[in-house]
Amino acid sequence: MNETEPKIRLFIDAPLHEGAGIELDRGQSNYLVTVMRLEAGAMIAVFNGRDGEWRAELTDAHRKAATLTARDRRRGQEPLPDLHLLFAPIKKARTDFIVEKACELGCARVRPVITRYTQSERLKLDRLRAHMIEAAEQCGGVSVPDLDAAQSLGAVLADWPQDRVLIFCDEARTAPPMADALSALPRGTPAAILIGPEGGFSPEEAGHLRGHRATLPVSLGPRILRADTAAVAALALAQSVLGDWGV
Ligand code: SAM
Repeated sequence: MNETEPKIRLFIDAPLHEGAGIELDRGQSNYLVTVMRLEAGAMIAVFNGRDGEWRAELTDAHRKAATLTARDRRRGQEPLPDLHLLFAPIKKARTDFIVEKACELGCARVRPVITRYTQSERLKLDRLRAHMIEAAEQCGGVSVPDLDAAQSLGAVLADWPQDRVLIFCDEARTAPPMADALSALPRGTPAAILIGPEGGFSPEEAGHLRGHRATLPVSLGPRILRADTAAVAALALAQSVLGDWGV
């Protein structure tokens, strides 16, 4: 990264255009001015998930209410792959990990689903979104996946769209390897990955999923993976086989 490249990146939930004034919240102001000791005139990179990435000048280095002014656009908006991740919430820290990796590994939408054996149903969506934003800031992303409120698996399946394939990570491991199954998908097919909870899917759920018109049951290999490991493995496989899917 050369000297003129800003090292600090911030997600800003405001329109970005030349000369746009950006009022930072207390946390962002504290981070830039107190933690990073930036002074007025310093340049940082900002993105909002819609307008690409801009260089912005710290115009008022107020510790609690700093302001930036957008100066010039450095990168256009890069769409996210048309890939969704559905997962059954697990323990807090591991759920944080799943949504963070979903952002890093490229998916457009993250959907928590409540299944029969799901233990932790209480989700703090604002906290999960903050984890995704932090991942995008640190990994050079210009987008943050959409995050849905939790829904029951039954409701999700009952309303499943005609055109999207649901890649069902089936812990029975009798389904074809995921890489083979993905390679057979027509390019650009809208897709979603489904990962179950630590306790797995109930026999009824597994039967319903195997018989559902939209599912593509896959195996992630001969070993049982923890739910967070399975989510990363499936997303990494999707990214490596599908690339920037549907973009
Ligand atoms: N308790 C279940 C059991 O022992 O069979 C294992 C559930 S596993 C911890 C959590 C989720 O990860 C599963 O529901 C499945 O979606 C996914 N998963 C784990 N290992 C997998 C594999 N080898 N193939 C496909 N999916 C897998």
